[in-house]
Amino acid sequence: MGKADLHIHTNASDGAFAPADVVAKAKEKGLESISITDHDTIAGYVKAGVAAKDAGLELIPGVELSCSWRDREIHLLAYAFDPEHPAITGLLARQRKARILRMKRITEKLAKEGIDINYDEVAAEANGANIGRPHAARVLISKGVVASVQEAFIRYLSNEKLTGDAIEFVSLSEAIEAVRAACGVTSLAHPGAMYTAAEIDALTREGIDGIETIHPSHNFSMQRLLARHAEKQELLCTGGSDFHGVGKPDYDPFFGIVTLGTQHVASLKQLAQRRRALSPEL
Ligand code: AMP
Ligand code: ZN
Ligand code: FE
Ligand code: FE
Repeated sequence: MGKADLHIHTNASDGAFAPADVVAKAKEKGLESISITDHDTIAGYVKAGVAAKDAGLELIPGVELSCSWRDREIHLLAYAFDPEHPAITGLLARQRKARILRMKRITEKLAKEGIDINYDEVAAEANGANIGRPHAARVLISKGVVASVQEAFIRYLSNEKLTGDAIEFVSLSEAIEAVRAACGVTSLAHPGAMYTAAEIDALTREGIDGIETIHPSHNFSMQRLLARHAEKQELLCTGGSDFHGVGKPDYDPFFGIVTLGTQHVASLKQLAQRRRALSPEL
């Protein structure tokens, strides 16, 4: 059984490394199949294509979507969709705008509290990448306001500090519908640390196809619990390292170590293929 990593970020969102460098690292670690799942963008996936082909590495289309669910922000992984389908391109364009709007609000709110930060500085830090809170955290570090990304989140950027700012993102049900329209499959990202068992049941009923059982935030007993849930509900198991390459010392060392068996990738591709076969337009 080969090793896969279906949860990786690049500098197209808030990761440190360029897509081709991530591919080279994945090859070095002996991975056979990967998915680049940047936040609300597939620009990194697109850029990684040539490098993956040259390296003989399977590259599954992927993205990590920020969605609204019950007034909360939740992360939904999407895979194996048609990256050119208008349901996907339209959704990602909308999410990009939502991220910009959200960051403008965040920086305005912080500036009002007397913190020295503005939107343009965060946009410069993002340097063309899909903008996110880790970029704001890096600006706060460079100004000496905080000492680490962790401190920036605790003091200024956590969801608890920013209640109400997730409302601009696509609803979970709309996101699921868009991914299905593009013949892709969805998986609930890192559920172990985020939701109660009752919430996982409720999220399952929303129509997700899979659940991220393997993630650095899950210990073995959580992995087993989630795998049992997946089996009972006939859901796919997905997993990966959530590698960012920077700012997440609790996850980054697990690249190449926290991996998913490639048999799960085969099941995921089968479901996407069945959707494709049933789709009238593709
Ligand atoms: P955003 O895309 O703006 O919603 O920001 C989400 C990103 O920030 C994800 O990569 C998270 O893993 C990261 N993040 C969330 N909380 C923290 C934290 N406490 N410390 C470091 N990174 C975090
Ligand atoms: Zn991230
Ligand atoms: Fe996430
Ligand atoms: Fe992630």
